[in-house]
Amino acid sequence: METLLFHFLSKYDMKFLLLSFSFIYISVCYGQESTLYHHGYIYTVDSAFKTVDAMVIENGVIKATGSYKTLATQYPKAAQIDLKKQFVYPGFIDAHCHFFGLGLSMQIVDLIGTKSANDAVQKCLSYQKEKPKKYIMGRGWDQNDWAVKEYPNAELLDQAFPDIPVVLKRIDGHAAWVNHKALQMSGVTERTVVTGGEIILKNGKPSGILIDNAVDLVMNVIPNMTEQEIQQACMEAEKVCLSKGLTYLVDAGLEYDTLAIISKLYRDKKLSIGLDAMYAGSSKNLYKINHHEYIQNEENFKAWGIKIYADGALGSRGACLRAPYADRAEEHGFMLFKGSAANDQLVMDLFKAGYEQGMPMNVHCIGDSANHYILNEMAKYLNRGTDLRWRIEHAQVTAPSDLDYYSTFKIIPSVQPTHATSDMYWAEDRLGKSRIGHAYTYKSLLKKAGMIALGTDFPVEAVNPLYTFTSAVWRMDAHSFPKGGFQKEEGLTREETLKGMTIWAAWSVSEEKYRGSLETGKRADFIILNKDLMKCSFKEAREAKVLGTFISGKKVY
Ligand SMILES: [Zn+2]
Repeated sequence: METLLFHFLSKYDMKFLLLSFSFIYISVCYGQESTLYHHGYIYTVDSAFKTVDAMVIENGVIKATGSYKTLATQYPKAAQIDLKKQFVYPGFIDAHCHFFGLGLSMQIVDLIGTKSANDAVQKCLSYQKEKPKKYIMGRGWDQNDWAVKEYPNAELLDQAFPDIPVVLKRIDGHAAWVNHKALQMSGVTERTVVTGGEIILKNGKPSGILIDNAVDLVMNVIPNMTEQEIQQACMEAEKVCLSKGLTYLVDAGLEYDTLAIISKLYRDKKLSIGLDAMYAGSSKNLYKINHHEYIQNEENFKAWGIKIYADGALGSRGACLRAPYADRAEEHGFMLFKGSAANDQLVMDLFKAGYEQGMPMNVHCIGDSANHYILNEMAKYLNRGTDLRWRIEHAQVTAPSDLDYYSTFKIIPSVQPTHATSDMYWAEDRLGKSRIGHAYTYKSLLKKAGMIALGTDFPVEAVNPLYTFTSAVWRMDAHSFPKGGFQKEEGLTREETLKGMTIWAAWSVSEEKYRGSLETGKRADFIILNKDLMKCSFKEAREAKVLGTFISGKKVY
């Protein structure tokens, strides 16, 4: 499969390589700066949702769109590139993702889907061969997926890695499998006392499995990433995003120091994908914001907006619900910042700072109680008629009576359609028969808000905007399940979905003047696909190939 894909891509890469060469040739011969792309199906995603067959790009900006006949006459000296009837869209925008998190996840061994403990060790060995490090960090194993459904032990890791520490987190992050070097370096023995966790013993000695808070005891053996490693991580993440047709990303929350390093990468021209990064809602970030010590904007990079977590996730029953969980009568979940007066104060101060400095607030809300609380809190700041572009992230379970907040206070729902198709198997267990109808209600949110911003939430979900598209439109998983779609009435049309992934996503971070559609004066950020997303089947859309990704008119994939 992989080789087939590679074969397919390289065929198209070759085609574009040839096209690029001919462009350079023409440019050199005639000294032209404009390029006329023609004979494509170009979805401009302008307000009329117009399609054209040609567009002219000059110095990285869209100069004109229209018919080939007209543009060829108007721009006789433009270099011409035949799109050969392929499909052009504005570059996809991911309105909520974790770009830096993706980079980090690519620096550790991915153990999801391993078939046995030995299989996991083999993955670590091949990773070490590819990217040698003085430690091994991994994540994603699950003994329930293995033939022997038991916790593995330290000895198995010791055989492969006797001299460097190995820490492999379980898929849920609540357990770690470590070797003796890691235990020794962190000083963990059978006598170590841990509250809120456990060091599992075998014959009176640590077995190599640590639970909950005990996991933290060994984390100090994994060194912090150097600036160079962070740089490497970001560049690797960018490569993946560009290959999936993403040209602009919104990172949902980073610390000041990380933002500073990323900003430097843009200053040094080491990254080209557009990035809008929110400040994580930490006390350090609040201090910097209150003292106007902002991270400097760079070409295609800005750090703006504040991200706060109101509650946790539905799966682990951390989402804050108004009525108890359907599958656990005594639990409502909880508001994360209500646990302590200091955290409560921090959140209030962040709201105040955001409002006073015109910085949008973006709040993670899953449960209907969290959504209600935050919508109500936002309403205190957003007087009727203002347009501050504050967003609710996920907006996963919204009581119908709370939907009016979106229209009255111009709040933007920022949702990730793959969450609906990932959670649909168990979400009803948590919420019950009637309340599930209030969950993943994208159509209802759109109707009230007038727009909806779409994202993937990678690396929690796959880096693939086409899955966003198919989940929003068809509401089915990879296996076309369930037939007819999960709560299909809350799905979006193809046009709404494409807008949510482009112009509305741009609007949600005040970028609509510069990107999100292919219109005169905007940046020439666009992609070429081999399928017509407005007409093709579910399967075709899911498997559509990105034939080219362009940022400011330059082919970057
Ligand atoms: Zn997220």
